[in-house]
Amino acid sequence: MEQIRNYIDKNKGRFLDELFGLIRIPSISAKKDHKPEMYKAAEYIKKSLLDAGVTKAEVMETDGNPVVYAEKIIDNSKPTVLVYGHYDVMPVEPLELWKTPPFEPEVRDGKIWARGADDDKGQLFMHVKAFELMVKTQTLPCNVKFMIEGEEEIGSPNLGKFCEQHKPMLKADIILVSDTGMIAQDIPSITTGLRGLAYWEVEVTGPNRDLHSGLFGGAVANPINMLAKMISQMVDDNGRITIPGFYDDVLEVSKQERELLAKVPFNEDAYKKAIDVIELSGEKGYSTTERTGIRPTFDVCGIWGGYTGEGSKTVLPSKAFAKISCRLVPNQNHEKIAILFKEHFESMAPKGVKVEVKIHHGGQGYVCPIDLPAYKAAEKAYIESFGKRPIPVRSGGSIPIISSFENILGIKSILMGFGLESDAIHSPNEKFPLFNFYKGIETIPLFYKYFAEM
Ligand SMILES: [Zn+2]
Repeated sequence: MEQIRNYIDKNKGRFLDELFGLIRIPSISAKKDHKPEMYKAAEYIKKSLLDAGVTKAEVMETDGNPVVYAEKIIDNSKPTVLVYGHYDVMPVEPLELWKTPPFEPEVRDGKIWARGADDDKGQLFMHVKAFELMVKTQTLPCNVKFMIEGEEEIGSPNLGKFCEQHKPMLKADIILVSDTGMIAQDIPSITTGLRGLAYWEVEVTGPNRDLHSGLFGGAVANPINMLAKMISQMVDDNGRITIPGFYDDVLEVSKQERELLAKVPFNEDAYKKAIDVIELSGEKGYSTTERTGIRPTFDVCGIWGGYTGEGSKTVLPSKAFAKISCRLVPNQNHEKIAILFKEHFESMAPKGVKVEVKIHHGGQGYVCPIDLPAYKAAEKAYIESFGKRPIPVRSGGSIPIISSFENILGIKSILMGFGLESDAIHSPNEKFPLFNFYKGIETIPLFYKYFAEM
């Protein structure tokens, strides 16, 4: 630990300068004309990794932006860690809301201000520097591989194929990712779960054309009324989703993990106030943190039909539509759930209307069991660097590529995120506290140390 802190202290300024060099490249994946910047950022990372001590580094082509792959194999009998990160960033608009230009990083109030300061250039650079530290102090206890992509912010459309094509090259015992957050600087946490997603569109058709609601109203089923009625039956009074078989594959979370989860600080009054609601609602028997973390959901994301213009127009519409999504929990298969929903919803249709469910995209959830050796190693690393046991947190969101890693490569991921919610990733004035940046560089080598001992 002494050695780690000394090395960081001695090289603090240089670490920051090197990170700033990466941040200055506007590698926005959503913009097609930024292609040269994507290559520039990839080459920058390749060079940083070579300088840090990898024995091999390559900028590898995909059908989209390139992937940087690098490795240092010290001993085939030692475990291998595969570090994943991304060098692409979100667009920066609206520009006028930035206090300083997004690609001119600067330090103010102990924070780095810039697009990518946290997500994910700052966080991925912690891994490059932690690796350098282990190489230079001759303490690297594992083999290391790096896979840094340039399309995370547009949904990683080519990374699954890249993994399929390079399975032997990517062989590893664990994937290490810093692209999430922690609760607070004095409350370290590790994300252990991500929810999956299923998304559908529903079309309800009644009469063959819009009808006069006076001449026909009362005699013909109204598709919007019918759709509303069907949707209202999808969740019961206890907040349980009524699709038959929906909960069959849901893994119940252990009592021990629910107890740890209950330690996540949560202020219900502030939460309600922030979104201006008087009462929260959800599944009976679960806390708000559990409802968003370990339980599946059913939500209508949009609904339309009939006349929605200005003023009034009496009409009995021919069609009604809705977009519906379910957040799923680990072990629920989004394709299976989509079929269960389609069969159930179409069979519910009253005779007066036709109902068609179209299945959109989906993604699997992910869970990292807290008794996994790699999780235990991460936990020990945080205890040593923060002086506190990290809280395992189930995130309500989804990072589909993490479950793809498990499905394609058969490797679990550890999400050691060091960002804070206040970092405003994806928004104007993104930032990353220096404390978190250096704490990450300090914690990562400890993970390697304990993981090698497992
Ligand atoms: Zn990210």
